[in-house]
Amino acid sequence: MKKYTLPDLPYKYDALEPYISKEIMTLHHDKHHLAYVNGANTALDKLDAGRKNNWQGVDIKGIERDLSFNLAGHVLHSVFWPNMKQGGGGKPGGKLADQINEDFGSFEAFKAQFSAAAKAVEGSGWGLLVWDPVNEQLLTLQAEKHNLLSGQNSVPLLVCDVWEHAYYLQYKNDRGSYVDAFWNVVNWENVDELLSNSK
Ligand code: MN
Repeated sequence: MKKYTLPDLPYKYDALEPYISKEIMTLHHDKHHLAYVNGANTALDKLDAGRKNNWQGVDIKGIERDLSFNLAGHVLHSVFWPNMKQGGGGKPGGKLADQINEDFGSFEAFKAQFSAAAKAVEGSGWGLLVWDPVNEQLLTLQAEKHNLLSGQNSVPLLVCDVWEHAYYLQYKNDRGSYVDAFWNVVNWENVDELLSNSK
């Protein structure tokens, strides 16, 4: 099977300072994201081996669980990096702004809902803005870990990593301040582009 690869950060490690430190970005991308890429590839290797052995003595349940966790981690981090940029923040424009107004009433209402969801994730996880192709609308979701609670069919557009590894070195246990700071680095052009692609 084809292997997953770690994408480069689309900016320098210190690009998001002072909101997200260089140290966090370096460890987060080079160590944590890489671990999910490697974990997904290890699961693929085990599935290859399982096929060759007709699944004799193979813990396929554990392998599929590992694949789900690590692949979801890889996907969400791959969305997360370009969701942010130096000099980001402000408000969305274009079709994204129209869709947010249609589905949430206003940008302020959306921002409050997304922030509340991200801050309230139990344990490690993510706050998500997704496109729901079933009803053709935007939704907020939480993900616990990387892969629990989310809609199977939803397309992540804007994601906020609220694992402690995303903020602890700078914000300690104050996840709320980190989520509030996140809005200063959001790359709305990227989110708008993902919405257009999803439709
Ligand atoms: Mn992370």
